[in-house]
Amino acid sequence: MFLGTSASMPTARRAPAALLLRRGGERLLFDCAEGTQRQLQRSSVGLPELEEIFLTHLHADHVLGLPGMLKTFALRGREEPGLTVYGPRGTRDLFGKLKPFLGRLPYRLTIVELSPADVLERGGYRIEGFAVDHGVSAIGYLLVEEDRPGRFDVAAADALGVPPGRERGILQGGDPVTLSDGTLITADEVLGPARLGRKLAITGDTAPAPSVVQAAYRADVLVHESTFGEEEKVRARETLHATAVEAAEVARLAEVKLLALTHVSPRYSGSELAGQARAIFPDVVVPQDFDTIELPFPERGTPELVKRGAAAGKSPYDQSAMSRMIQVATAGDVTEAEELQELLRNAGIDAEVEAADEEDGLMVLVPENSLEAAQDAIEALSEPDDLIAEP
Ligand SMILES: [Zn+2]
Ligand SMILES: [Zn+2]
Repeated sequence: MFLGTSASMPTARRAPAALLLRRGGERLLFDCAEGTQRQLQRSSVGLPELEEIFLTHLHADHVLGLPGMLKTFALRGREEPGLTVYGPRGTRDLFGKLKPFLGRLPYRLTIVELSPADVLERGGYRIEGFAVDHGVSAIGYLLVEEDRPGRFDVAAADALGVPPGRERGILQGGDPVTLSDGTLITADEVLGPARLGRKLAITGDTAPAPSVVQAAYRADVLVHESTFGEEEKVRARETLHATAVEAAEVARLAEVKLLALTHVSPRYSGSELAGQARAIFPDVVVPQDFDTIELPFPERGTPELVKRGAAAGKSPYDQSAMSRMIQVATAGDVTEAEELQELLRNAGIDAEVEAADEEDGLMVLVPENSLEAAQDAIEALSEPDDLIAEP
């Protein structure tokens, strides 16, 4: 979700840089410009107890929202969870300077400085830094998912005599099982080809750079800054920013699926930048604040811009218009959760994924008034060994 898409300063229509990434139950914030906490409050997401914030660099239009947001978490009485802020070299020094604003925080604040070569391994995916060209200590971020096991072939499992239940779950996880008659069944006998993970690249501020092309190679989505249009090309060079055409050239060389231009100078509406970029690379969007990009697993479609509030057919500003979200199912991992979410959305039901409080799983939530329809849609799933459990 694009919370802020303006370069350098807020305008009436655009807030400065911030982007929220939702993956399963995780909420990762990239950059936190002035007013980001209010942008979140105004969005359909609200202001969650964020646990991780990633800074691309330390220019004011990317970090000024931090002290206020961190104080709000403190005023809410947050003690757990702790909060980790990742950023380039210099981030620790910045927080030293923020100390008079922050005072004592009731929760644990951890600062982690990253270099462009650093990799954060996480369950099922990793976050990698990459080098950008902005004249200051700065870092781009990649989110790269591991490939997922192939689809479970129920007919093949039936033919091999694998009973419904536990054995199928083990095979689906990639491990072999021995049947009661002593037959050994391996996962590749009942699973289709491995399914590709997703890849997302976020540049932060940068001039066009070969390191960005390399990092973003074959990404599903490249979020690239585009501060200027072609007529400000010289200025873009002087300030180490990119024009729309330059960002499009990076996207073309990197063979990405979708280019999202952001960090738009206040003099542009966005459409002229999209027009200039499209002459070089066709799949370009210039999101407005609160627009989202849905990034499905590759076998399920291509990334798509969803205009603000369009997904749920309601205004992102009006929280009271939303029916209470309640849990309809539990999923074991992100793949299952997003498959369920897609199934429900295809049935016309708004669905969200959130981390379950106690266990490892993920909760799939639907509006209270759609609960029955959602249960029907899930029951219509015919796979007998489906790993989806009732709440
Ligand atoms: Zn900036
Ligand atoms: Zn900057």
